[in-house]
Parts: sequence; C-alpha cells; structure tokens
Amino acid sequence: MQVLIASHNEHKIKELSRILAACSVEAVTAEELGIDLTEPDESGKTFAENALIKAKTACLESGVAAVADDSGLCVDALGGAPGIFSARYAPAGSRKATLLKELGDTPHEQRTARFVASICCYLPNGDTIVADGVCEGFIAFTCRGDSGFGYDPIFELPCGKTFAEIPSAEKDEQSHRGLALKAFAARLNDYVKSHEE
Ligand code: IMP
Repeated sequence: MQVLIASHNEHKIKELSRILAACSVEAVTAEELGIDLTEPDESGKTFAENALIKAKTACLESGVAAVADDSGLCVDALGGAPGIFSARYAPAGSRKATLLKELGDTPHEQRTARFVASICCYLPNGDTIVADGVCEGFIAFTCRGDSGFGYDPIFELPCGKTFAEIPSAEKDEQSHRGLALKAFAARLNDYVKSHEE
C-alpha cells in the first residue's frame, strides 16, 4: 500500500518517513508523486480533528492513502493555551517569549504543561487509522538548550532537562510525536495485515 505523507513541514516529513519506513507500506511525498498539496484550513476544535482534515484533504486530492499529524503545547495555567493554536500563537520568532511572559513568575509547581500529537491516516475507501501521544512536563523559566525546534527550549521534562537539552533519539523515545507514531505504526501494520488477501 502506498501512503502519502501529507505535510509541508520538512521536520515532520523526516520523522514520519523514518517511522513509516519500518511499516509494511511504501511512504511517498507529494513531491515524489509530482503533485502540490493544498494547505487546508485547520478549522477543527481538537488536534485529532485537524489531523483528519489534513489527511482527508490530501487523500481526496491525490487518490492515495494519506497520513498527517497535528500537534501542540497545552499549558494548564493558561487554560490549555496555546493548544491547537501553537503554530499561530504569536509571530514566528516570538512564540516562546510570549508564552514565558504570559506565565510571568507563576511558580514551578503551577507551570505544568503537555505536548500532544494526533496522527491520522485517511484511506480512499474512507477508513481511518488514528493514534495520539502525550508528553507531560513543565514550562521552564527561561529558554535552555540548542537542539530541537519550536517550543523545545522551554519544555522541561520531569527529569529537569528541556527537550532542547537532550539528544533527538532520546526525545523521540518520550515525545508526544514519538509515542503517537509508535502506536500509529502498530495499528497501520495490523490494518495492512488484516486487509492482505
Ligand atoms: P502544527 O503544524 O499545526 O501541528 O503546529 C505544531 C506547533 O506546535 C508548532 O508551532 C510547533 O512549533 C509546536 N510543536 C509541536 N510539536 C513540537 C515539538 O516536538 N517541539 C516543539 N514544538 C512543537
């Protein structure tokens, strides 16, 4: 089975390709198929709804099964914000600073937060294969670490290190996306097996 990786984000395309390589499917990109994917409005109210919108749009446009993800950071002291608006929370380059400013000197024990990722594969027959992953932690008081991307330097794990202070393989083992992809890969393999002649 061919599976199109429905993302415009290089970082996500790499992660999804890596995981799908271990599944019994042939992962392809829009570029390899020679098509341009529309970036649909992320109008869902949850990560799962947005992942479905992206996967379904790509499947209907390409005619092949498509996989997409939606993810973000939910901060308890901010009522779950930025959540599904993580990518649009503030202008690029000022998102971490905006979040730190919003939290001000909120004490450590009240700075609880979680990264959430939802993955969805939409098939031409209308079937869906979905998985979620959650990683619990805290919002640090300042940016720490040089690796990773996005909010990584301000997301502190229970061990005290931020996502940007640990190697990417270690992040994959416990991150929201790593956990969601692991569960997703198992479900995708089960689906492919149960639909083999
Ligand atoms: P999406 O492309 O709509 O899923 O947006 C995801 C948003 O959440 C982006 O702003 C990312 O920077 C942020 N985000 C998601 N996963 C991570 C992560 O693993 N580390 C840091 N930021 C992340």
